[in-house]
Amino acid sequence: MEQLWSHIISSYSPFQIEFIGTLLVQILSFWIPSICYISLDYLFPCFSQHHKLQSAPKQPTRKDIEQCLKVVLQNQLLTSALHLSLLLQQGTPGYRITLTLPPLAELTRDITLSLLLREALFYYSHRLLHSRYLYSRIHKQHHRFTAPIALAAQYAHPLEQVFANALPISLPPQLLGSHIVTFWLFLGYELLNTATVHSGYDFLGGKARMHDAHHEKFNLNYGSIGLLDWAHGTDRLRKRD
Ligand SMILES: [Zn+2]
Ligand SMILES: [Zn+2]
Repeated sequence: MEQLWSHIISSYSPFQIEFIGTLLVQILSFWIPSICYISLDYLFPCFSQHHKLQSAPKQPTRKDIEQCLKVVLQNQLLTSALHLSLLLQQGTPGYRITLTLPPLAELTRDITLSLLLREALFYYSHRLLHSRYLYSRIHKQHHRFTAPIALAAQYAHPLEQVFANALPISLPPQLLGSHIVTFWLFLGYELLNTATVHSGYDFLGGKARMHDAHHEKFNLNYGSIGLLDWAHGTDRLRKRD
């Protein structure tokens, strides 16, 4: 591992490492798993139906999926273009890139703190997006999929993509001065997690159930790890009076 890392460091500039490495993590932990999840519907329909959390009539059509793919590709281009322009403007990488890999204790500390910071940033920005004003103008688009599919994780208005999806993940490791490898591991985990919780499948002990319920019923489960939903009592449906 150390050898591979020192080879990368000596072969590429910090700028190339940050931009291309981050793009590769996005492909490996979001695009490929999302396409695998969606392919299950076509390759193994019986298996797929058996494991879907919501019934077949509620599932999106092929046309919906194509539309989703188009928007998610646009959003990927948007975040990559923003990343590139920030790198060009700053002239220095956003994350620490050194010859040595981060020690395990630092890696564990930074990932734990990043998970908590991301929970706060995502929970409160998501609740804000559910305000009457922002819901109809911005967040309604993400809720088009009442029975979500993995790719729909990034089916969102461009402002939501930047402020509620990209920043809550990219900002915490930057604020903590984390090593780029720590950022990649955190990003990889978060993207695989968001693809899984939008997949609509009951895999991994029903990990998707919480966010699937958010898409189905709207006013519960705003967060990612469930901590702030528990603290604010939004982990269950509020009674409508
Ligand atoms: Zn929502
Ligand atoms: Zn969602």
